[in-house]
Amino acid sequence: MKIRKDDKVMVIAGKDKGKIGKVLKILRKKDKVLVEKVNMVKRHTKPNPYVNQPGGIVEKEAPINVSNVAVVCDACTKPTRIGYKKTEDGKKVRYCKKCSETFK
Ligand SMILES: [Zn+2]
Repeated sequence: MKIRKDDKVMVIAGKDKGKIGKVLKILRKKDKVLVEKVNMVKRHTKPNPYVNQPGGIVEKEAPINVSNVAVVCDACTKPTRIGYKKTEDGKKVRYCKKCSETFK
């Protein structure tokens, strides 16, 4: 999986198509990612007096399939594909296949 936590991604399929958000969590085994403010679902919660939490409906992110998102490059600000290359000191880094800019 080429996506990492804190990457910026764009949704390229599904109901949230076109939305951009930050990757909050990677669910490697399921090939899914949790993206900030993407694929929001409503959860009904019971009131919990111990933590002073009222009951009601809470909106929460649900994981979406990795194949439905594309990493957005900071340099060219476009959804792109990621490649790998080796630096002069032998480190493997990710880079944008559109503008060749190295990812952090
Ligand atoms: Zn780029």
